[in-house]
Amino acid sequence: MIEKYAEIIGENELDALFKISEKLKGVSVLHVNSTQKGGGVAEILNKLVPIMNELGIKTDWKVIRGDNEFFSVTKSFHNALQNGKGNLDNDNFAIYKKWQEINSTEVPLDYDVIFVHDPQPAGLVEKKGKQKWIWRCHIDISNPYPPVWDFLKNYIQKYDSMIVSSPVFGRSDINVPQFVVPPAIDPLSVKNREISSFTIERILRKFDVDPGRPLITQISRFDRAKDPQGVITAFKGLKKHIDAQLVYLGSPASDDPEGEIVYEETLKAAEGVKDVHLLLLPPDSDLEVNAFQRGASVVMQKSIKEGFGLTVSEAMWKGKAVIGGNTGGIPLQILHGYTGYLVNTPEEATHYLIYLLRNDEIRERIGRLAKEHVRNNFLITRELRDYLMVILLTMG
Ligand code: UDP
Repeated sequence: MIEKYAEIIGENELDALFKISEKLKGVSVLHVNSTQKGGGVAEILNKLVPIMNELGIKTDWKVIRGDNEFFSVTKSFHNALQNGKGNLDNDNFAIYKKWQEINSTEVPLDYDVIFVHDPQPAGLVEKKGKQKWIWRCHIDISNPYPPVWDFLKNYIQKYDSMIVSSPVFGRSDINVPQFVVPPAIDPLSVKNREISSFTIERILRKFDVDPGRPLITQISRFDRAKDPQGVITAFKGLKKHIDAQLVYLGSPASDDPEGEIVYEETLKAAEGVKDVHLLLLPPDSDLEVNAFQRGASVVMQKSIKEGFGLTVSEAMWKGKAVIGGNTGGIPLQILHGYTGYLVNTPEEATHYLIYLLRNDEIRERIGRLAKEHVRNNFLITRELRDYLMVILLTMG
């Protein structure tokens, strides 16, 4: 299976991966996160864990437990860390601590290296023994709400190293070695591999989308950070000029309890706007995601806050011009004017939507450059190689 990546990245790159994994033979690794399905972290772990095992590194994945109350608190943490504001008190911190205790009795910690993904399970480090602990932060922590960051920092200080997705997320106020590893996509997965135009059209039609008219797509959880209302506003602006359609495809994630409210808000914003399809599909609708990204004329990821935004690389890999929010890890992927367009407002998004839909040649050129940028930087083999390097450096 792993050999199949050679066709995409070349023998040399694959060889480098084998050489590093040789050094880690016999090392056991555990990944811990807070959801099995939905969102970028689960997407990555689903692909990464089997490949690590294939490379001979014994790797397991555990998902922590929690109730609604816990996930509401951690979602508030998430928002407070990314937005710089929040409203949390000691009761919230106590709920967080209670679930760290519960999970620490259930998650087996008998491994050489433990990767803890994001804030939800970060407190497990209290049970640190002889293992090496790596905090893998997938969100924007460049401007956190101080009370939440200070609370979390007490745990993070105990880690042996940490990883952020973009250099702009590095922290100068903690004394833990920090690495920058942008996330990546799996080109061989059902979500990203080539599919026939027949399949694309069949899926578009199944959801009442006309394959003969321009289609704008955004694939995102219904989360205010993904700016679903901004997407609707941008589309309304486009609609005044071009008879396009919009698909906003979102799926629930068990660690994101706000999805329903935000879906309702988006529905309201889209009231009376023709050709808007707001779709709620199960989180494993990979073929549908693939088809809506490939079937799109232009893909949007109009986030206001973003850790990395795997959906950007997913669409770029499919040769699409992406209009993305100028935030977090999106500018690593979209080099403005070369591999896509960065925007700060819905009006700017409308501008580039019209521009791209009216200029086939530019759209195609950007799509070609976008795909090469992803091939060189954002495929899972590169991320894996970086992780293995981080393990080696952390183990010393
Ligand atoms: N995703 C999906 N179905 C949806 C919405 C999102 O499969 O309806 C996937 C998307 O294709 C991507 C991941 O969930 O692989 C989202 O990762 P990203 O980094 O873009 O955002 P996050 O949800 O982690 O903030």
